[in-house]
Amino acid sequence: MFRLVVPAAFLTLTLICSAAAKDAPSPRVPLPPSKPVTNAEALKLQNSNASALFSEKKLPTLGEAVAIGYYPSGCLQGGVELPTTGPTWQVMRVSRNRNWGHPELVNFLERFAPMAAKATGWQGILVGDMAQPRGGPLPFGHKSHQIGLDVDIWFMPMPDRVLSKEERDKVSAIDLVAANGKDVNRKNWSAADVAFIRTAAEQPEVERVLVNAAIKKELCRIKGDADKSWLSKVRPWYGHADHIHVRLKCPADSPNCRAQPSVPPGDGCDKSLNHWFVDWILRLVIPDDAGSAKGMRMKDLPPACAAVLNAPGRRSTNARMNDSPNP
Ligand SMILES: [Zn+2]
Repeated sequence: MFRLVVPAAFLTLTLICSAAAKDAPSPRVPLPPSKPVTNAEALKLQNSNASALFSEKKLPTLGEAVAIGYYPSGCLQGGVELPTTGPTWQVMRVSRNRNWGHPELVNFLERFAPMAAKATGWQGILVGDMAQPRGGPLPFGHKSHQIGLDVDIWFMPMPDRVLSKEERDKVSAIDLVAANGKDVNRKNWSAADVAFIRTAAEQPEVERVLVNAAIKKELCRIKGDADKSWLSKVRPWYGHADHIHVRLKCPADSPNCRAQPSVPPGDGCDKSLNHWFVDWILRLVIPDDAGSAKGMRMKDLPPACAAVLNAPGRRSTNARMNDSPNP
């Protein structure tokens, strides 16, 4: 079958992958001064690979939490860690060290996890990637997730036991979309998935929830529920067949966080959805490296991100799974 491979540039045209907020001023709370740099050093840093530099940082910065820039081009000062195991959540892919975020994201997850468990009948939720300790571009997996306000949450109930670190690296989420890309997979889809997505979309701090277009179509199709207002925040996107992507609004403490334009009015169950099911879109094969920000340079980020990168680190208060002999 003919398959169309999409160049990474294609994705840069999209909302998630929009241009860098280059004009963002410094964070609200100044970081401790870093050592003076020469012009040559500054120029070298500007041209350096941002995802390589940010992914090397294992700890967050000192200072108050501030989300800086835009979801696909920014960084995070004063990030906090979601504990890898909670009463109603477990963090997956712990070895990636991406369970960091702005405190509003961590607070959201700690509040959402028990609510989602109650709404679905699940033991709890499985949390995928959030952000790196200092946010910034990720070398693989995502274009966004850069300012500590994005999180992937799996379409899979948390098991009634604590998963080992190895299991968390190996277990895969449940794919809810049929092979044709047009419908949900009836073997895997259930009412609990609807409750899960709805509970996320109904939270006031949530900006939008991204799901595969086939899932959005199914949510639109379901009858018998008069109140569909929550559906406006549920937006169709490529992939997202085995997880939801929850994006929070810019927090009040982060004036240099650039807001995403609000979702259009209405439930989104109109003919705009049809675009996702035309043949050439269904045949798109997006290469793994197109879904990352590995090509971004420091000059593509707000200037304040250089200070975040070079700021002193703060030791985490939460014990990491990798540091303890047992999960
Ligand atoms: Zn995501």
